[in-house]
Amino acid sequence: DKPSYKWRRVLLKVSGEALAGDHTQNIDPKITMAIAREVASVTRLGIEVAIVVGGGNIFRGSSRAGCSGLDRSSADYIGMLATVMNAIFLQATMESIGIPTRVQTAFRMSEVAEPYIRRRAVRHLEKGRVVIFAAGTGNPFFTTDTAAALRCAEINAEVVLKATNVDGVYDDDPRRNPNARLHDTLTYHEVTSKDLSVMDMTAITLCQENNIPVVVFNLTKPGNIAKAIKGERVGTLIGG
Ligand code: UDP
Repeated sequence: DKPSYKWRRVLLKVSGEALAGDHTQNIDPKITMAIAREVASVTRLGIEVAIVVGGGNIFRGSSRAGCSGLDRSSADYIGMLATVMNAIFLQATMESIGIPTRVQTAFRMSEVAEPYIRRRAVRHLEKGRVVIFAAGTGNPFFTTDTAAALRCAEINAEVVLKATNVDGVYDDDPRRNPNARLHDTLTYHEVTSKDLSVMDMTAITLCQENNIPVVVFNLTKPGNIAKAIKGERVGTLIGG
């Protein structure tokens, strides 16, 4: 008998910052390899994994808009292109250890990757391939967290697993306050009303409206990605 896991299909969100690790350049190959190995270990169990990658390690539209006349939409297009770079790097790493992986972009770059086609993405997952969604939602003024919530809902994944550099959601900034306490669970309402910086409001609201639980966890701790994907207790669970 196959052991049963909590999730059958997950949406893993990897921020650009998480990919950077402590590498001086944009992407730390040790991090992409760690992600690939752990994702490989769970796809072998039959769990379907889709990934949304961020781009903040390379370019963040909101903080660059205004420089030298750069308007917000143009800045956000650059940000979305940054996510494509991360996606291709991650895909190459995954395939180097034998995980068939497809990148789908929210706007067409057909020489580089497939366009996003929902039913095709689902088919890849059913065949045991990992699908990396790049270029966010394809729209300026959005974030890749919102893309994660959106794609999760679209492909009927059961949870958004938000991989970060911290252990989960704290009641205060753990870097400034050593007594900050980690929340095991939170409701959507607690996240929005206390303005806890988990995700932007658009992303968390989309999760809430579609009853998508969110797990915030630390990807730098070995084994955590596989644990999160298998549905073992890790980080902070947001729901209900
Ligand atoms: N972005 C966008 N629309 C989207 C997703 C992303 O315009 O749907 C742009 C935006 O400029 C953002 C950048 O891409 O700053 C990188 O994404 P994000 O900041 O979400 O990455 P992360 O924080 O996860 O590294």
